[in-house]
Amino acid sequence: MNEKLPRKELFSLPESVIYLDGNSLGVLPKGVSQRLKDTVENEWGRSLITGWNEHSWIDMPECVGDKIGRLVGAPSGTVIASDSTSINVFKVLSAALNLRPERKVILSDTGNFPTDLYVAQGLVRLREAGYELRLVKPEDLLHSIDESIAVVLVTEVDYRTGRRHNMKDLTAAAHNAGALTLWDLAHSAGAFPVYLEECQADFAVGCGYKYLNGGPGAPAFLYVSQRHQSRIDTPLSGWMGHEAPFAFQLDYAPAAGVNQMRVGTPPVLALSALDAALDVFDGVCLEGLWQKSVVLSELFIEEVEARCPELELVSPRDSKCRGSQVSFKVAEGYAVMQALIAGGVIGDFRAPDIIRFGFTPLYLDEEDILKAAKVLQRVMGERLWDNEAFYKKAKVT
Ligand SMILES: *Cc1c(COP(=O)(O)O)cnc(C)c1O
Repeated sequence: MNEKLPRKELFSLPESVIYLDGNSLGVLPKGVSQRLKDTVENEWGRSLITGWNEHSWIDMPECVGDKIGRLVGAPSGTVIASDSTSINVFKVLSAALNLRPERKVILSDTGNFPTDLYVAQGLVRLREAGYELRLVKPEDLLHSIDESIAVVLVTEVDYRTGRRHNMKDLTAAAHNAGALTLWDLAHSAGAFPVYLEECQADFAVGCGYKYLNGGPGAPAFLYVSQRHQSRIDTPLSGWMGHEAPFAFQLDYAPAAGVNQMRVGTPPVLALSALDAALDVFDGVCLEGLWQKSVVLSELFIEEVEARCPELELVSPRDSKCRGSQVSFKVAEGYAVMQALIAGGVIGDFRAPDIIRFGFTPLYLDEEDILKAAKVLQRVMGERLWDNEAFYKKAKVT
């Protein structure tokens, strides 16, 4: 049971830390440090501007995008690594709305991540009157899709509870009503297998710094189904999405394929880090990774419920309805999490009262989970959280 996953050796994890927050910021893969040193010193340092061609920096958004595509069931040429998730939501949601000009409703749910909703609200303000962001409860989403909906904007895994939407069913329901889907895979990519093409998803976006381990603020990604690539129209029509950026023409003409969703000059250092980070997935069976995640999360739930009766599970108990995280509700959750972190177990807190734990089997095993549950038991049993130092809220929780 306690076999060490060989992949643990690929990560640079501090000795005394049990890290249950890879869903928020992934751990540093060892290969990233070496790659960054090489990109900075050998590529940028020696090649200077010729590096754009010599080291194919210019093609990195597509190359890294293809690597991410393999993790989310997207064929080559449908994913690029670019910008942030928020900006990608803007670009892709606009493009999706433009494909359904006769419809004006964006449908989403109250479990969605705020930035997705804020960006949708901004887009509604930017468009002519009549556009609307309609929010329903997550459990009502499927039945709220009707022929007024242009785009269903949905985050697959709820960032607080870990509740997971069914991509196949929701996408089919949207298509039956003539609507399009935009999937936010921030808490999906790299955590479990995603089948974008098989589910016929239209568009998707996701994060590079969570389960993909690309580092703080890593480039995000976006997916445009092959079906839509020849008809999309993005409002952020930058020169890197032009069919011939170095022809310097006065008028915009979109590049072919998903590349038209590029905007400006790609961040080569950040993309190099993400590219190297993705190598830890080489040869990994995502179904196997997911099974291991289920084992770890079920073990954690069982141990925590037995040891800490005051914690209330807010994640779905059925692993099929859950992403790779487990959350509990607890009074003074912020202080509890600070005390846990002081005890060497890192998770995070989400307002108002949720403590959240992510499971990343590439670098976690059963022994870690048992240790973490024991530390949590001490924090609760001995009220270690009830300490002034743990109440003071930092800017980032
Ligand atoms: C983390 C997360 C984001 C983050 O967006 P950024 O633009 O990278 O800040 C977006 N959507 C979801 C669902 C997330 O979980």
